[in-house]
Formats: sequence, structure tokens, C-alpha cells
Amino acid sequence: MGSPLFAWLDAREAEAVRTLEALVNQDSGTYDRDEVNRLAEMLAEPLRQLGFEPTRFPQEKYGDHWLWEKRGTGPKRLLCVSHIDTVFAKGTAKARPFSIIRGERTRAMGPGVLDMKGGIVSLLYAFRALQTTESRAWREATLAWFLNTDEEVLSPTSRPHIRAEAERSTSVAVTEPARVGGEYVIGRKGAGKYFLEVLGKAAHAGNQPEVGRSAVWAMAQKICALHAMTDLAEGTTVNVGLVRGGERSNVVADRCDAEIDLRAWTPESAARAEARFREIAAHPHLEGTTARLRGDMNFPPWPPEDRGTMALLALVQAAGRELGLALRGIPTGGGSDGNHVWQVAPTIDGFGPQGTFAHSPDEYIELPTLIERAKVTARFIELWELSTERVERPRDRSPRPSR
Ligand SMILES: [Zn+2]
Repeated sequence: MGSPLFAWLDAREAEAVRTLEALVNQDSGTYDRDEVNRLAEMLAEPLRQLGFEPTRFPQEKYGDHWLWEKRGTGPKRLLCVSHIDTVFAKGTAKARPFSIIRGERTRAMGPGVLDMKGGIVSLLYAFRALQTTESRAWREATLAWFLNTDEEVLSPTSRPHIRAEAERSTSVAVTEPARVGGEYVIGRKGAGKYFLEVLGKAAHAGNQPEVGRSAVWAMAQKICALHAMTDLAEGTTVNVGLVRGGERSNVVADRCDAEIDLRAWTPESAARAEARFREIAAHPHLEGTTARLRGDMNFPPWPPEDRGTMALLALVQAAGRELGLALRGIPTGGGSDGNHVWQVAPTIDGFGPQGTFAHSPDEYIELPTLIERAKVTARFIELWELSTERVERPRDRSPRPSR
């Protein structure tokens, strides 16, 4: 028994799998603009049929972003966010198309099946179920779906649009994949990229070593200080992932560059780490060398257990219980568009099917969770539309700048 949504979705499983197959077999690598636009077109017709109206945000470098919106008669607006780009270049779908591996657990494979074409199909079918069963939520709620095309390169052009849409919304649902155990995502580390440049003085390493000031040596000491900052218990990690310095071994290096990755759970720990970066850059590890630091936290932290997020998780869990599922939410280290919106509207992530090995040829989803997730999402939207709890937005808590 249960909600009529569930029976309708159970009967559509084969059709949903065919839809997923078609989307996976259309490449949509971030840098292949035409391919990405073709994928967006494949979604346009089903969305029009559901009564969604489009706004297109034309792009030069990436595929166009789209906002699809179906207005409801009630006051609530749910913003769903999905990226349609993948990390796989044109030709990947031809080389290893969508496939189903049957076994103890049936899995589907193919480029982007998990990240995040599965999540797109689950949400599409959740919407269809709400429409077909003439759900009250379908009538009352305004449902908006932002499809962006540059998430895999950190959403440089879509970020401001997504934030603006979140500002107009009651809540935000991101359709990134579920974690490997089916968990929803209730927080994500912030991620920053920094560049450290050290300048020294070149000299002949044999004839006049005393004249030289080695940028490589100075950098080596700075790297030791940077890596020593990693605090696994706190979850703040620093990784100097790339170093370039010097030209030849018989020349004292006059320049050395490093790229640094910073991850942190809270804005406070990110700010502390940034301050320490500046100290390390300024510290004269070797007299006669200078250093310059650039970069910032381009993905702000989404700290675990934000009140708005937890209220949404409770609704997801209530939906899951109706299906006999004990759903959990966990924080994760990697970023998503959720990092950019939780401050503006309560946000929850991980609405996509369960699976693992994203960004690799081993990527798969647990195929039965494609419809299972659609059921949870559809029922979540119903419960969300009915819920009366008004969640205080994080931005309302912080003092407003005076004008
Ligand atoms: Zn993704």
C-alpha cells in the first residue's frame, strides 16, 4: 500500500531506466558545449509536458544554463539544483555506453550515471508522479529546477544565478548522488585553492653559491609549515599538490610556485587557516627571498547540522519510513552547489541514486535506487509542502550590514 505515488512509480521503472540510458549515452563533458546543449534539449520536452516554463541563460564557454519553473498557487517555492555536465570528454559514451550489470545487486554503469544523470532522472520521475496523481503539492508548490553546465569546474558562471534563485526560494534540494550507503548529504567541507609564489636570487651553484637565494629552499620550509597545519580531528586539511621551481640543478633557483588545497568544515576554521597561510608566506624562512600568496575559499563551507538542513532531513526521513527505509544524512568532504546556497535558504543534498566511484570508469548506481529515490523525493515534496515549520534562514541570524 502506501502513497499512490509509490504504485505509479513502481510501474514506471523500465521507462525511467530507458530515460537514464538515453541521457548517459549523450555525452555532456563540461568543455563540450554543443554536447551539453544537446543534453539540455533532451530534458526540455518532458519538462514542457509537465507545465514547466524555461528561462535560458546563454553561455559562451559552457553549455547554456536553464531555469525551469512551474508555478503553484501556494506561498512555497522549492529550488532543485542539478548539473548536467560530466567530467567525461566527447566520445566516452560511445566507448563505454550505458550498461546494466545483473547480479546479486543490479547496477547500471556509464559516464555520468551516478554524477549526476541518475539524480536528474529520479527527480524528473518524482515530478511526473506528483503531476499524474494530482498531488496537492503539485498544485500548491512552486517548483523550480536549475540545470547548470559548469559544476564540474566549480560553477564559475552558474553560481550567481543559483544563489539568486535560492534567495527567492523556501528551500533547496540538490540532486547530487547519495553517498555509498544511500545517505543524504547534510554538510560539505569548504574548499579553497591558493597559489604561493616565492622569489629568490639566481646564482652559479658552483662558483658563487653565497650570492644566490634559493626560492626552492625557502619554499621547502614553507611546505613543511603548511602541511603541518593539517588537523584530521578538526577536519582541516592542507595539501600542497603541485610545486614548480628552478631551471637546472647547477643554478640556485630564483623562483618557486606551489598550489595549495585547503578543506575545512566551518567558516571559522577556514579563516584561521587562511590567516596562518599569510603568516607562513610572510615569514622570512630564508633571508633575501620574498613570497606572495593569492587565492581564496571558492567553495564556502556548509557546516554539518545546520538547523534548516536538519529540518529538511527530518522530512526526507519521514518519507523514507513510509517506504520502510531508515534514511540517514551525513556530511562529506567534497563540494557541490549546496555549498553556495545553504546560507540563503535551507538546503539538503544527495537526492540522487546510491552508488560510488564518481569521476571514474568504475562509476555505477544501484539500479533499484533510481525509482526508490524518485519515491522518496516525491513524498518529500508532499511533506515539505504541508510542513508548517518556518525555518529561520542563516542569513537572518547574522547582523545585516547597515546601508
Ligand atoms: Zn556532481
